[in-house]
Amino acid sequence: MSHYDLVVIGTGSGNSLVDHRFAGWRTALVEKGTFGGTCLNVGCIPTKMYVHTADLAVAPAAGARLGVDAELRGVRWREVRDRVFGRIDPIARDGRAYRLAHEDNAGLTVYEGQGRFTGHKELTISFPDAGGSGAPGRGEETVTADKFVLAAGSRPVAPDIPGLAESGYHTSDTVMRIDELPRSMVILGSGFVAAEFAHVFASFGVQVTVIARSGALLRAEDADISTRFTELAAQRFDVRLRRTAERARRTGSGIALDLTGPAGTETVEGELLLVATGRRSNSDLLDVAATGVTTTDGGRVSVDPQQRTSVPGIYALGDLSSPYELKHVANHEARVVQHNLLHPDQPVAADHRYVPHAVFTSPQIAAVGLTEREARERGVRFVSATAEYAGIAYGWAMEDTTGFAKLLADPSTGLLLGAHIIGPQAATLIQPLIQAMNFGLDARSMARGQLWIHPAMPELVENALLALPLDA
Ligand SMILES: Cc1cc2nc3c(=O)[nH]c(=O)nc-3n(C[C@H](O)[C@H](O)[C@H](O)COP(=O)(O)OP(=O)(O)OC[C@H]3O[C@@H](n4cnc5c(N)ncnc54)[C@H](O)[C@@H]3O)c2cc1C
Repeated sequence: MSHYDLVVIGTGSGNSLVDHRFAGWRTALVEKGTFGGTCLNVGCIPTKMYVHTADLAVAPAAGARLGVDAELRGVRWREVRDRVFGRIDPIARDGRAYRLAHEDNAGLTVYEGQGRFTGHKELTISFPDAGGSGAPGRGEETVTADKFVLAAGSRPVAPDIPGLAESGYHTSDTVMRIDELPRSMVILGSGFVAAEFAHVFASFGVQVTVIARSGALLRAEDADISTRFTELAAQRFDVRLRRTAERARRTGSGIALDLTGPAGTETVEGELLLVATGRRSNSDLLDVAATGVTTTDGGRVSVDPQQRTSVPGIYALGDLSSPYELKHVANHEARVVQHNLLHPDQPVAADHRYVPHAVFTSPQIAAVGLTEREARERGVRFVSATAEYAGIAYGWAMEDTTGFAKLLADPSTGLLLGAHIIGPQAATLIQPLIQAMNFGLDARSMARGQLWIHPAMPELVENALLALPLDA
């Protein structure tokens, strides 16, 4: 049985953790799937490559309002798909090759198999059959280590609907690699994954039906944003709110879902069903309990601010332990863990005070800090202000009539409590507000302490800051 100083499980955000500073440590990396993890292979990066393409596909139609008659003549799906994965797959392959090549000089051993804890700080790795040929593989190997980093991420989960498992549905893991665009698609779910794929596939000409259990899409966003997005989405997709899927079944041309809702029962049908109802931590498959690591109710590994689990020497990061399920959070936590491994006498804590996120749908959405509902629930004293894209010159240029920025601030200090933007380039526009929150810049100083390029989109942010009804 091999013993290591450090074993890292997962090559998503865990991949870059062991670098030259760990020279002299006996280290190992365990990966059961494709190198690079969710973000690179089936998450942030391919989806945004599709979203950019989708934005181009809908641009001709948007020109008509501005007097430009352009036409989308078609989308060559396989070329779209192959551009995305022609870029990504080699990166994953190179990442793997880099790690394998550095095996000797960096003292890093790579195990390409699935790890599960079988005892205190004891990990058993199962290797797949050689080449999937049915020939005997390496079987299993058990390793032990003084320290572990658990970076095993999360996976999509589907609700328990009779007939669903047999119906041949897709998740975000599979839908981006399909061979043909379907004519119609039913998307079960109303979070960011559903919103992004609805935009992508509708832009490519697929008839999209979105099924939501709740009364709005993107319900976790500030209510004003979620309401506006739901209204706009209903103009592009067949949106069914407050529906429960009771049964799934295959039909001659695809999949049917029987629903119950406010008006009784109904059936929706599509050539393809995409289930986008959430993800769960991989802590169960890793059997973290076998090494004494505790989890929360939702199955996430419990960590303290220094990313330490309940077992000394075992750290966790990213989707395995984080409620945010965001790549920039996982990367930040990986840097914290790396520091704490290298400098145990000067540990640092992860900073989760202002975690921003974006939804790359149409229109784009981005947010940081408290929603209005959260501010009320916490009894925080706040004022809010909204500025519309329609109120800035660049908004006139784009003829935008639906986008806005909403800010929440402490009326006495002017410090921002939350920022929410729906509209073009929201994910980019929000960054100075994230900066202001992190560095304690108050709204007035931010608005008037600098010049804002005219007539550029950040004037939206300037207007929202100036509109805040702060105390004197
Ligand atoms: C469709 C989609 C779009 C997204 N878009 C965005 C976005 O725009 N912005 C953003 O910030 N975030 C986005 N995310 C979320 C982001 O991808 C994740 O938060 C991030 O990738 C999590 O990183 P991680 O390192 O925790 O896990 P992962 O990247 O999932 O890495 C975990 C690795 O561990 C391996 N593994 C798991 N179990 C075991 C085991 N038992 N043994 C060995 N190896 C194991 C897995 O194979 C995987 O390679 C998106 C996610 C999805 C699904």
